[in-house]
Amino acid sequence: MILGYNEFVSQTAEQIACNLGRIVGEEKVLHGSAVERVYSSDAYTVERFPPTVVALPTSTEDIAEIVRFCREHDLPFTPRGAGTGLSGGAMPALGGAVISTKKLTAILDFSIEDQWLHAQSGIANLKITKKVEPFGYHFAPDPSSQSVSTLGGNIAMNSGGPHTLKYGVTAQHILGLRYVNGNGEIITIGGPAGQQPGYDLLSLLIGSEGTLGIVTEAWVKLTKNPSAICTASTYFSTIEDASKCVGAMVRSGVMPAALEMMDHYVLAAVAAAYPIHVPKGTAAMLLIETDGEPESAKSDIDELISIAEQHNSIETALAKNQAERTLLWTARKKGVGALGRLAPTVVTHDGVIPPSRLPEMLEAVYAVVQSQNIGVANIFHAGDGNLHPIFYFDEREPGAIDRVVKAGEMVIEKCLELGGSVTGEHGIGVEKTDLLAKMYSANSLAFQARLRDVFGSPQSCNPCKVIPSGKGCLEHKVRWRGVAT
Ligand SMILES: Cc1cc2nc3c(=O)[nH]c(=O)nc-3n(C[C@H](O)[C@H](O)[C@H](O)COP(=O)(O)OP(=O)(O)OC[C@H]3O[C@@H](n4cnc5c(N)ncnc54)[C@H](O)[C@@H]3O)c2cc1C
Repeated sequence: MILGYNEFVSQTAEQIACNLGRIVGEEKVLHGSAVERVYSSDAYTVERFPPTVVALPTSTEDIAEIVRFCREHDLPFTPRGAGTGLSGGAMPALGGAVISTKKLTAILDFSIEDQWLHAQSGIANLKITKKVEPFGYHFAPDPSSQSVSTLGGNIAMNSGGPHTLKYGVTAQHILGLRYVNGNGEIITIGGPAGQQPGYDLLSLLIGSEGTLGIVTEAWVKLTKNPSAICTASTYFSTIEDASKCVGAMVRSGVMPAALEMMDHYVLAAVAAAYPIHVPKGTAAMLLIETDGEPESAKSDIDELISIAEQHNSIETALAKNQAERTLLWTARKKGVGALGRLAPTVVTHDGVIPPSRLPEMLEAVYAVVQSQNIGVANIFHAGDGNLHPIFYFDEREPGAIDRVVKAGEMVIEKCLELGGSVTGEHGIGVEKTDLLAKMYSANSLAFQARLRDVFGSPQSCNPCKVIPSGKGCLEHKVRWRGVAT
């Protein structure tokens, strides 16, 4: 039994579970060593802390009750969707209650005529598209985790994905939210018709990483499927040619629906597991997709392929049907998972640079990992300069985690030097709180930190995330990092 932050609570985990269970139903509250282990981190596994209890509410009202209970008992609480976050956002940094949306998966209503869908926040992203696919529509934000990551998690992180290059990130597809603020009040903002008059609170809540309360329902915009899609993979014998080609494609004025890059480390890991074709001598592959009316989609992809040829591509494959298209996407879709073949632990980093700076950025990434003696594979949304160096290593090796953290900082410093940002889409979480100070002045950070007060959100609501100023965060920082137990 571990209590999260002893100054916050005076009850044992059993007592908390029992008291909370009395309010929302005992079957909705979990605790114990297995629960502590499973919920101690998200997909950023180098920093961990166990929750005291995990709540599995089934309604907005349940969540409001749980939040009020936490406030009353000075218990920190952390919202959690599917736990696929890559910056430690769903880690219960000071222990306390993890409030999971796992059971909030219902589609409440939808209108094809007016192009919206209303769902609970724990629904997996892809389930929304599956629901409206028969009508020729989809939900455009498509993080590569979309088969499991939740609508609430996508909203909290303002997630992107391969097709957000053309269609925009999650914020561009949310019409309204129902949410429970950090005081346990239920608030509705926007709705099927979108943002209502007054302050644009939707913009502030989207991307707030669960620090301003818990989203319980959302109205999302539905996007009509394009009439035609063209997909091609084009291969290069040097990273430099491939990355220069990305800048040229972006400058060409043709807007690809997706423009993704994978280096030979990713391709080798995927090829070991799936029947993908990788030409001999490939250093990098670009996956290009265009869409729209059949003629424009075809002429756009032809133009992009001709740009690739001007940048010395060694081979190009243009999908002739859906099966071939799926196969070309395999390297992208299975890339992160396949990296498990290279080492026991992977940490996916994330930063942004202007696409024209890709060649020097990638050169820097390979130099950084060499200096820190770890491995790296690159698979990322190249078209919007959204970089994902994936460090692979053995966390049981003494000092490995510190070297990985150092490498991440070095990469981000280079992103900033090249005019980029500390994160493209994976957020700040606990991973990048220190790095934010390299981007913003102290005044600017203090101003942003005051948002919690505006939304009635105490420091105990997802503590120590984004801009930590709460009690206990600094003291705990050192305890989060280390070998997974
Ligand atoms: C293989 C893989 C591929 C990925 N690809 C992409 C990608 O292409 N693009 C991208 O942007 N990200 C990507 N991610 C990162 C991650 O999937 C996204 O950040 C996703 O939106 C997280 O959703 P989740 O449900 O797993 O949220 P969690 O990890 O559970 O939580 C993420 C954050 O949101 C908060 N939160 C969760 N639910 C709520 C809620 N209902 N209300 C308020 N706050 C909440 C949590 O407190 C936490 O701070 C990827 C991750 C993996 C593992």
